[in-house]
Amino acid sequence: MHVKAVVTDWWLGRIYATALQKTTLKWIVPRPDRSLPHSIWRACQGKPYMVEAANTRARMITGRYRTKQVNAKYSKHAESPICLLCRVEEEDMVHLLVQCPKLSQPRTRKLEVLMSIYREDDVRPPQTPAEVCSAILNGVCYTMENMNGSDCAVIDDCAVNSVYELSPVLHIQASSICNIICHKLHIVRDNMINSHYII
Ligand SMILES: [Zn+2]
Repeated sequence: MHVKAVVTDWWLGRIYATALQKTTLKWIVPRPDRSLPHSIWRACQGKPYMVEAANTRARMITGRYRTKQVNAKYSKHAESPICLLCRVEEEDMVHLLVQCPKLSQPRTRKLEVLMSIYREDDVRPPQTPAEVCSAILNGVCYTMENMNGSDCAVIDDCAVNSVYELSPVLHIQASSICNIICHKLHIVRDNMINSHYII
């Protein structure tokens, strides 16, 4: 291997290892092939709406999206972390993307399309709310929760090989669906918060 490639790979590995210690980046599943742009961006295909959608998902996966829980943390709990839509649970990324009952209508159909990809490829689908959240944020690949409740990356599981063997077209299609889920829920959430419904 060329020296430059070895050095680049070493630094990328070190950056990944350091970045993944940050709690804000806890959702990111490391990718085996770092030479390609993340599927978030490859799913844009030059369409303005899809670029917006990709931007929303990128903010969510990198911890830059301001959920109520994040706002509470940065306001030193001057702000409530409780979801403004259901007013029952704290709004973190899992609640927003998977659990909030007020967002079930815009979420359900797209999520079914995403789940059908696992079924078609005979891959274990994400099952817990955290796994589904991870799948939406990473675009098919997800972090699996093990029997002890701690996390292990699906990248180390045999199932991940099947996930990564998806055809490039299907992989981009899945990532595109994930971008849309994130953006759609973000838009609906904002509209509901800004409407008289909440007031
Ligand atoms: Zn809620």
